[in-house]
Amino acid sequence: MLQLFYGGTFDPIHNGHLAIARAARDEVQAPVRLMPAADPPHRAPPGASAQQRAHLLDLAVEDEDGLCVDRRELLRAERMPETRSYTVDTLHELRAEQGDAVPVALLIGADSLLGLPTWRAWRSLFALTHFIVADRPGSPLDAGVPAELGDLLASRWTSSADALCDVPSGLVYRLSHPLQPESATDIRRRIAAGEPWRHLVPTAVATAIADERLYLDRATTPGPL
Ligand code: ATP
Repeated sequence: MLQLFYGGTFDPIHNGHLAIARAARDEVQAPVRLMPAADPPHRAPPGASAQQRAHLLDLAVEDEDGLCVDRRELLRAERMPETRSYTVDTLHELRAEQGDAVPVALLIGADSLLGLPTWRAWRSLFALTHFIVADRPGSPLDAGVPAELGDLLASRWTSSADALCDVPSGLVYRLSHPLQPESATDIRRRIAAGEPWRHLVPTAVATAIADERLYLDRATTPGPL
């Protein structure tokens, strides 16, 4: 079966994240592991700490079939606190565990796909994983992909979810799911500004954010989009 991972800061997890995780699970027929990124070394976490973000994820997936939380990047950061965690390292770790024949996919938003050339060893990622891409407002793929990335993607697009199970890596599949407007940056801004935000996250997540008084401090909350 396809091993499907959804990495991100999830600061905090919101309904947009959940909607695309559910859509991927249903379209590709595979469980989705939400994988929070570790805090970068030597820097205060921007909003909530990695442990707090992961706890919010636990609450968000509590009643969701086929969605779970994978803390491997947090555990690696505990083992190697001086080392920044890169996706390529996570994928090598996965391959060491699961072998080279297992199909692996990363679920990412269109903004992340467009930024792929800034990721460490980005060209090598296609030998390690497939990508499943969710359109995102402001980063529609139809508006064009930078040439360097476009050339590499050209032969990799597939419209068949089944094809992702036939080979271990190297394909790019576009999720047929409507654009989701939610943004973590906007939610942090709303909380700090005292604007309505609870409707943008699952109820249990909203309760925990309020109880733990997260994201109230404007100083640690990046400005508007
Ligand atoms: P921000 O909203 O501040 O940009 P973010 O939610 O994008 O933050 P992450 O938590 O790292 O930050 O996102 C994890 C992944 O989810 C990324 O690949 C991102 O592109 C994708 N994503 C986040 N929100 C959406 C959305 N509303 N629609 C589609 N993809 C999304």
